[in-house]
Amino acid sequence: MKKIIFLLLFISFSAMANREVQRLLELVNTNSGTANIQGVLAIQTKIKPWFEALGFKVNLVPNPEGENVSAPLLVAEMPGEKTETITFIMHADTVFEPSSPFQKASLTSDTVMKGPGTMDDKGGIIVALKALEDYLAIVKKPKFSLRILVSPNEEVGSIGWWKIFHDYGQSSWLVLGLEPGHDDYGIVHGRKGNIWYEINVVGKESHAGRDHEKGVNACQILAGKMLEIQKLTNYKKLITTSVGRIEGGQDKYNIVCGWAKAKVDIRVPDLASFNLITKKMQAILKDPRITFSITDSTPAFNVNKISRPVVAKYIKAIEKFESRKVISHASGGVGDVNHFSREGIIILDGLGPVGGNAHTENEFLVLPTIESRSQILTHFLQGL
Ligand SMILES: [Zn+2]
Repeated sequence: MKKIIFLLLFISFSAMANREVQRLLELVNTNSGTANIQGVLAIQTKIKPWFEALGFKVNLVPNPEGENVSAPLLVAEMPGEKTETITFIMHADTVFEPSSPFQKASLTSDTVMKGPGTMDDKGGIIVALKALEDYLAIVKKPKFSLRILVSPNEEVGSIGWWKIFHDYGQSSWLVLGLEPGHDDYGIVHGRKGNIWYEINVVGKESHAGRDHEKGVNACQILAGKMLEIQKLTNYKKLITTSVGRIEGGQDKYNIVCGWAKAKVDIRVPDLASFNLITKKMQAILKDPRITFSITDSTPAFNVNKISRPVVAKYIKAIEKFESRKVISHASGGVGDVNHFSREGIIILDGLGPVGGNAHTENEFLVLPTIESRSQILTHFLQGL
């Protein structure tokens, strides 16, 4: 009798695990290179009922910049006992377009699945689904309101969604990113931010000899500003400013330069320096002869007083379920989670499963981390 019960348990356990693997296979075997809008839409359409089955209200939101920019964003919501919201962010696209030779999943061993998007980030979607299913089975009604976002174009920077992400950041107290876990099984507690400025200076052309005083030299004005901007670089504080390009004037010696423009890249490690540098740049560029546009503004986030204990809790859960010591990392690269950053919010990323060789034709996923990372996430949610 005991044996039979054990056997039944074993069968139901492996049926459960198999379902996650089966779902992952379905997702990986559907091409969803970012530019393959129909393919990404197929992923969103496939996972929509999976979230609905858990009780979420799910919408596919068209890209505000046009339907040709990307497939729709999946937004799944469930009210909790509290209005405070936990936002989960993951993505449906991969870097492997239909032209890539890397199209299908294969099991290279009992525990490793190779394939496009296995770890980045289809495995992340499966982990979120499984974790939420288990969590909701335990609590019935979640303590906090839940919101799932599945970006259709993360691999090109989630163009079109920044404002929406920012607004969702305002109404979230916690943001959990399901990007894959770090190669060393750690998670991500911070990501640098960047700001790109395109600066235009309008001067006035004149004869460089006869009418010098009538001219306004745009190149010289810009050069002065570039020196001021360069002074904002502070390696100790991990702040860098870099002039990528300058152009201006006519290709002549004897005409006072009438126009100039520059492209400037700024990197910052946290929200405080993001705000500080933005303010300083405004002061430097405050000049009636200058106009500028910010072509990319991605706020940073970093571990701080409020997030430190939450990060520690997550690390502890990993240690408990995987019996391994892990650490959290600050990453140089920008991710979707950056767009939610604001004062007082808690952001953790890299909570997806673990694998390796992302963005290469050797991308793989360590399958047991689907199970362990979803158990960890469930445990973490229960403990909030
Ligand atoms: Zn990713």
